[in-house]
Amino acid sequence: MDQKQHGVPHAGERWSRIAVVGNTVVAVDFEGELLIRRSQVAKQRVAVVGAGFSGAVIAHRLAAAGQSIVVFEARQHPAGNCHTARDAVTGIMLHAYGPHIFHTDDETVWKFVNRLDDFVPYVNRVKAISRDRVYSLPINLLTINQFFGRTLAPAEAREFVASLGDHAIHTPCSFEEWALRFIGRELYEAFFEGYTLKQWGIHPSLLPASIIKRLPLSFDYNDNYYRHRYQGIPRHGYTTIVERLLDAQNIELRLGTQAAPGIATEFDHVFCSGSIDAWYDYAYGPLEYRTLDFERLDAEGDYQGCAVMNYCDASVPWTRISEHKHFAPWESHAMTVCFREYSRRRERGDIPYYPVRLVHERAALQRYVAHARQQERVTFVGRLGTYRYLDMDVTIREAMDAAQRFLDCLERSAKMPAFNIDPMAS
Ligand SMILES: Cc1cc2nc3c(=O)[nH]c(=O)nc-3n(C[C@H](O)[C@H](O)[C@H](O)COP(=O)(O)OP(=O)(O)OC[C@H]3O[C@@H](n4cnc5c(N)ncnc54)[C@H](O)[C@@H]3O)c2cc1C
Repeated sequence: MDQKQHGVPHAGERWSRIAVVGNTVVAVDFEGELLIRRSQVAKQRVAVVGAGFSGAVIAHRLAAAGQSIVVFEARQHPAGNCHTARDAVTGIMLHAYGPHIFHTDDETVWKFVNRLDDFVPYVNRVKAISRDRVYSLPINLLTINQFFGRTLAPAEAREFVASLGDHAIHTPCSFEEWALRFIGRELYEAFFEGYTLKQWGIHPSLLPASIIKRLPLSFDYNDNYYRHRYQGIPRHGYTTIVERLLDAQNIELRLGTQAAPGIATEFDHVFCSGSIDAWYDYAYGPLEYRTLDFERLDAEGDYQGCAVMNYCDASVPWTRISEHKHFAPWESHAMTVCFREYSRRRERGDIPYYPVRLVHERAALQRYVAHARQQERVTFVGRLGTYRYLDMDVTIREAMDAAQRFLDCLERSAKMPAFNIDPMAS
């Protein structure tokens, strides 16, 4: 059997292997999981814009299938907004662009990331200060009983909260009406009104009810912020994971390099995980985002006793304080580092964090999407390429699927579309 090994990335074939067996490429990922078994496809030169999870997963998967990849990253580090690095002063692992906790029900994605690092189980227990009192979030039985000074059992609490709702509101149109209808004025004003105003810069009476998929409320004492089956934080940080994904002979990572549409002439295909509006030079106007400012606080010992404290009152300008050593409870540090987080409208030059996606932005997005569909050989992926909020697990899943689609298209000599996920659908 003619078997030739090539495209093997780093350290003793730990991460992935490719074998060409006759006319078939067999790519084996990490600890032996079969990734691809297909007829050989022509080797392509592929550009990937952005070294966040979207770009890194696509680069990794295509490299494993024998393609030649150049990853362009404007920043001086990989991992995008999930970047983590040890603080030079305290040694604490800092989440540079805000705290990141991995949570998913997607078993494939969970197995995939666990092959890249050891994920330590982590439960996100958020606290909130409202009118000088501390509560547990998301609103649960403890929050309800503390807030109203009661000792209600689950069924009683459910009935009680339902009785607080304003039943004169038949068809809630705004976020505010929705909250008033289902949880009543007191809980709404204490936990949602001020916080939402600070986070989005828009009063909840002006936000459509449709943006709330469900109010985070539970009638038991479970204060875990997430309900996913798998939850954890990587022992060595997210940047280590992304570096491992990109560590292959046929991936060239160009840090500190801003890519522009002109690169398309040098490559067979481009995957862009950068902002779609910036890629087209804001031809239809900038898509609105919220950006974040972080104010660092250094202290000794324990500053707030938990990882995340939300500040619900509009009179406090920051939305929350994160104390990063609490995201690694398996470590011990004498000093502590916290970040106050402020949300504001994104201006040119600011980092885009949260897409606003209201009526006006959706109209502009529609024009960018139509424009992109007229172009060839560029596919937009990720949170910025598709202008959607995406958790890390969804980002990784979508990137895996986009890479797979590209390989399928190559095999069938079909055209890879501008989007593997329709950005207008959600
Ligand atoms: C504050 C905050 C907290 C979050 N917390 C969580 C959490 O707890 N759990 C969770 O699952 N998810 C969380 N997320 C979501 C998570 O950050 C995203 O899922 C993830 O970052 C998406 O990865 P991406 O690769 O699509 O985008 P990004 O991480 O933004 O990566 C895109 C990269 O492209 C680069 N780039 C852009 N344009 C260009 C260009 N023209 N040339 C070169 N490079 C370019 C950028 O510099 C960036 O590095 C959070 C998000 C935010 C904003």
